[in-house]
Amino acid sequence: MNCPRCRAPLRTEKHKGIEVDRCTQCQGMWLDHHELDELEDTVMDDDQIKGTMMFRFQGSDLSCPKCQAPMQWFRYRHYDLELDFCEAEHGFWLDKGEEKRVLEIMQQRLKDLKRSSSAEAEWDKFLSQVNTRSFMDKVKDLFRK
Ligand SMILES: [Zn+2]
Ligand SMILES: [Zn+2]
Repeated sequence: MNCPRCRAPLRTEKHKGIEVDRCTQCQGMWLDHHELDELEDTVMDDDQIKGTMMFRFQGSDLSCPKCQAPMQWFRYRHYDLELDFCEAEHGFWLDKGEEKRVLEIMQQRLKDLKRSSSAEAEWDKFLSQVNTRSFMDKVKDLFRK
C-alpha cells in the first residue's frame, strides 16, 4: 500500500501491540477499521465510554490506499481532530501526531469523568446504555440518516 497523502510506501509496524501501516515519509498512520477500536482499548476497555462519540463528516481529498476510492473524514468525538476513513471499511488514516492526540483525548476524557462529581450521573447513563456495537457500525449509522 502507498500513503494516501504523499504516495510513499507504507511499512507495517507495531504500535502499542497493534499492527499498523506507517508512512516512511510523512509518518502518517493507516489503521484497518478494527484497529482504531483496538487502539482505544489500550486506553479504555469500556465500550460505553467509547460509545459517546459524535460525528460530522464530509468528503476528504484523500483516497483509500486499499481500494483507491475517495475517503470521507469525520470529527473524532467532540474534539477538533479530523480522521479520514474509507466507506468500504478498509480503515482510517491518521496524519502524523493524530494518533497521539486520539490517545490524549481519551485519557483526558477518562480523567474528567472520574474527577467531576456531576459526571457521576453521566457515568451511570453510560453504564445503563449497553452498547456492544463496533466503531464502524456507528459510522455507518450516519450514512443511513
Ligand atoms: Zn506519507
Ligand atoms: Zn477502501
